[in-house]
Amino acid sequence: MTGHTLPRAAILTIGDELLKGERVDTNSAWLARHLTRSGFRVTEVVSVGDPPEEIRHGLREARAVVGEGGLVVATGGLGPTLDDRTRDAVAEEFGRELVEDPELLAELEARFRSRGFDALPTPNRRVARVPEGARLLPNREGTAPGLVLEEAGIMVVLLPGVPAEMRHLVEGPFREVLEERFQGRGGAGVPVVRSIRTTGIPESALAERIEDLLSDTGAVNLASLPSVLGVELVVSATGPDAQRSVEEMMDTLLRRLEPWVYDAPSGDLAEAVLLRMRASGWTVAMAESCTAGLVSKRLTDHPGASEVFLGGVVAYSNTAKEALLGVPEALLREHGAVSAEVARAMARGACRRFGADAAVGITGIAGPGGGSETKPVGTVAIWTVTPHGETGGVERFPGGREEIRARAAQHALHGLLQVASNPWARDG
Ligand code: ATP
Ligand code: MG
Repeated sequence: MTGHTLPRAAILTIGDELLKGERVDTNSAWLARHLTRSGFRVTEVVSVGDPPEEIRHGLREARAVVGEGGLVVATGGLGPTLDDRTRDAVAEEFGRELVEDPELLAELEARFRSRGFDALPTPNRRVARVPEGARLLPNREGTAPGLVLEEAGIMVVLLPGVPAEMRHLVEGPFREVLEERFQGRGGAGVPVVRSIRTTGIPESALAERIEDLLSDTGAVNLASLPSVLGVELVVSATGPDAQRSVEEMMDTLLRRLEPWVYDAPSGDLAEAVLLRMRASGWTVAMAESCTAGLVSKRLTDHPGASEVFLGGVVAYSNTAKEALLGVPEALLREHGAVSAEVARAMARGACRRFGADAAVGITGIAGPGGGSETKPVGTVAIWTVTPHGETGGVERFPGGREEIRARAAQHALHGLLQVASNPWARDG
């Protein structure tokens, strides 16, 4: 990667709530991703409080870090309330006056009148005062426009703190400004980025299979991003050969990691399952104990789920497993509720109850209590029944209650996808 030729960018998020931990700074992560994919090298992300001197300090540092030809993006503190001081701080720092923008003022007045106000409330009038010479980015999602200033060859952009407004401005009006100003220099640096999602393989095992590619310092950058749901591999490159290099790397990765790879527009494994099921013309039902509907929820997060998903039973107690899913009492007594046998009986019961082609039974110990020597916390039995065959067993997942449930749901979905994809899968 020819990182040193990319224009630099710094991100400054403003707000006491961020420093007190009352709000998570999601703006900087979103902006960092967006700017990186737009051909910038993000060199600093900083959060500062609301006092003007802290904003000015942050601004000075950010400008120093990006240098001439760079970009500083700040969010927050543009609203009408007294704790919104970004406008004042920036005007002072750049030695510019705050001047009332007549067009903006008229627009704000019209907007408030249309909402039934007689006049523009005084605090909102402050929003119309902008640093001299600033370019305005119209904000259709809120009242405060974004502001663009040039100072000593550095572009400084001020955006509202509300995430939806910030994103709207960056994807809309700010894009034009960026293209105008940086296309000449940053344009060649716009990276080609693709990603592959994997699940069901630990990051270390995955790394082993692609070690040579990870250590390769060639034209392509490969990043491995693990989470409880799996590992996402992000492939990126810049320069004239970027497209081809990225495609080649993607092919290699797909070949080596095929059993663990899934693909869905939303990036969610549940959507991949729905698409696969729809293609097979299958319907599916769920029988969930420890995940208590999580898999059903994930499937129905996606529009069109009703074509495939018939329903689910949350059978938490043994009595519910017997009464609602027809799990034999003797099976529960003999193997215990957390066993492959019971998970299988649950899945078969769900198939019968709903008249579904496929079903998954999930029963486990999410903790923190309820574990034993032979079945510690994290033990989860998962069984998948499909017209292509059955598969399943007893897994042991790490983590706390929430993580165990998330991993169990992901594992169940992966099992379903694998059996549905492979007509010859049959181990059980
Ligand atoms: P407003 O017109 O709403 O006052 P503003 O530009 O003044 O907009 P802030 O007052 O700084 O923005 O923030 C408004 C809200 O937006 C905050 O209460 C917070 O919930 C959210 N917010 C601000 N900054 C961030 C951030 N960096 N990441 C995520 N959310 C944020
Ligand atoms: Mg505010």
